[in-house]
Amino acid sequence: MAMWSPWRGCRRYSEGCKYCYIHKGDSKRGVDTSAIVRTDNFDAPVQRKKSGEYKIKSGQTVFLCFQADFLIEEADEWRAECWAMMQERSDLNFLFLTKRIDRFAACIPADWGDGYDNVTVGCTVENQHRVDERLSIFADLPIKHKDIICQPLIEAVDIEWH
Ligand code: SF4
Repeated sequence: MAMWSPWRGCRRYSEGCKYCYIHKGDSKRGVDTSAIVRTDNFDAPVQRKKSGEYKIKSGQTVFLCFQADFLIEEADEWRAECWAMMQERSDLNFLFLTKRIDRFAACIPADWGDGYDNVTVGCTVENQHRVDERLSIFADLPIKHKDIICQPLIEAVDIEWH
């Protein structure tokens, strides 16, 4: 398992964001979460040791953007490089979660096709309204591996009909 945070920071987007652990942690440390900035580890998947080997060993799951939302607008200009790194590291499995699944179709690269084999997308939902809104979009998207993440769950939801 490895973490990859190419950028950090986020803006609240929907009801569940009230309980965002990133905002909570940042406020304790006096960090402005609304500042969305690239990190020093932007290119973590393709960083190499002096020996020439990749620093992230083959075969791992890489948790992508767990301190942000991979599909946030402010990162639009950076995302293409990330897709390219995921392609280069076809020996790793990448997982990201998003509350902005409505932006997915506008954020994928030209060679996405019916999805990259090594990318799992988690659509997060927190209440029935977001279940109905997001899962109807998610169901039709070309993604090879899909997860539904009910987090933070702020009311009982029915996802069965989706
Ligand atoms: S979208 Fe996710 S990371 Fe961004 S504010 Fe909401 S809960 Fe936090």
